Amino acid sequence: MKIFIASYGTETNTFSSIPTSMNSFHESTLFYGDGTSHPPAFLSAPLHVWKKMATDAGFEIVESISADAQPAGPVVQKVYEELRDCLLQDLQEALPVDMVLLSMHGAMVSQKCNDCEGDILERTRELVGNKTVIGAELDLHCHISERMLENSNALITFKEYPHIDTMERASELFRICLDTCNNKVLPVTSVYDTHIIQMWRTPLEPMKSFVRHMQELEGENEVLSISFVHGFPWGDVSDLGGKIIVITNNRSEYGNILAEKLGRQLWDIRRKSQVHIPEMDEAFDIAMSEPHGPVVLADVADNAGGGAPSDSTFLLEKVLERKINGSARVLSGCYWDPMAVHFCIEAGIGATMDLRVGGKCGPFSGNPIDLRITVRGIQTNATQPFGNAISKIGDAVWIEADGIDLVLNTLRCQVFHPQVFTGLGIQLENYHIVIVKSTQHFFAGFSPLAKKIIYVKTPGALSPDFSNIPYRKFRKPYWPKNEKPFD
Ligand SMILES: [Zn+2]
Repeated sequence: MKIFIASYGTETNTFSSIPTSMNSFHESTLFYGDGTSHPPAFLSAPLHVWKKMATDAGFEIVESISADAQPAGPVVQKVYEELRDCLLQDLQEALPVDMVLLSMHGAMVSQKCNDCEGDILERTRELVGNKTVIGAELDLHCHISERMLENSNALITFKEYPHIDTMERASELFRICLDTCNNKVLPVTSVYDTHIIQMWRTPLEPMKSFVRHMQELEGENEVLSISFVHGFPWGDVSDLGGKIIVITNNRSEYGNILAEKLGRQLWDIRRKSQVHIPEMDEAFDIAMSEPHGPVVLADVADNAGGGAPSDSTFLLEKVLERKINGSARVLSGCYWDPMAVHFCIEAGIGATMDLRVGGKCGPFSGNPIDLRITVRGIQTNATQPFGNAISKIGDAVWIEADGIDLVLNTLRCQVFHPQVFTGLGIQLENYHIVIVKSTQHFFAGFSPLAKKIIYVKTPGALSPDFSNIPYRKFRKPYWPKNEKPFD
């Protein structure tokens, strides 16, 4: 048995003006054939699982690239093609192979290709022929196209958001593909389009129960796997939207019925599964009425993990305008501001100076804020955990300005974990309000210590106003823009 593995992807926010370049991959994850010799990163983590499972079983494994970039705008075409062709060249040289396992995000868009995963899978199928089993593990914020389905044997997405289950899904995909190779199963995929666009948070009800329900159905009635594709609302492509994927052992009729049934359940809970996202003033009112901190406020629209600049100042401006910092200590991060970080590192710990913070990338960033700050901490080459993976944040500084403490950094990233603060020596329990730039991934790390979590409606690149995202390529009716999108 010979198995070919690779990871390649990013989540493209087609509304973002930040290009995804070769440097974007270098800054995040880019290895040529030895990704598993390094600690697991977001998309390379499944390769670690596959390599171990293959090695334990005595199979031969061929490892190609591990390439992952922080979400931003479309991938520069020649960069997309160079990495794609690198993967395909490795595959060509490895032939014949029995199985191809790919870890891809599923929402990658390049300057000239709206369905990069469909393109990669189609080219993979052309190279390996029809007998080789092709499986792909995808982020649940992906787009599922016909081209992807036609050119693969099994597509599986994460079930959890935050994505804490990448390793489990990797072993699930491995087992299905291995059983397919050994003719023990014949995976057949059923897809149901929910016609819903929104964000679903799986640690919260009713989504928590929905995920458990999907898992209970797996293993019965020849159901091999069920995925709920959340879709990525800020990727304007024709295949956007929430979908259910059911993979059965050659029971397509049952798979179709089950996929539709689950899709209808999602429809029924569509309102209940939306969290209340208050405006900024309401969010601060709620936070200030809490007797104890830390109260964690999520700046959902400035999430670098969805392609936002991560330097917006809307919440910071509101703190100053309302003088929140006069009565409560406020901590916030991570502001992507390499220039300000450079100044702080040059000035050194203890230095007090005027600093212009954030608001530098465009209208989604808000206004730059001028502060009289003191540099409290510096950390070079800092990292934070992201599930089982390690995520780089670049050089980071802790600055203090009149009751507000901020973390600025050089590598655009969202806040996954309290380590972005504690790594600099900051103790979160000293703050009443902690503002993090993240839509949901912060939840796993912060929920154990937060007295309360509030998602805040802020202006920005990932506006949670799903009715009014200005789609041009996505043309289908969807809820919440249409009350009856099936008509
Ligand atoms: Zn995701």
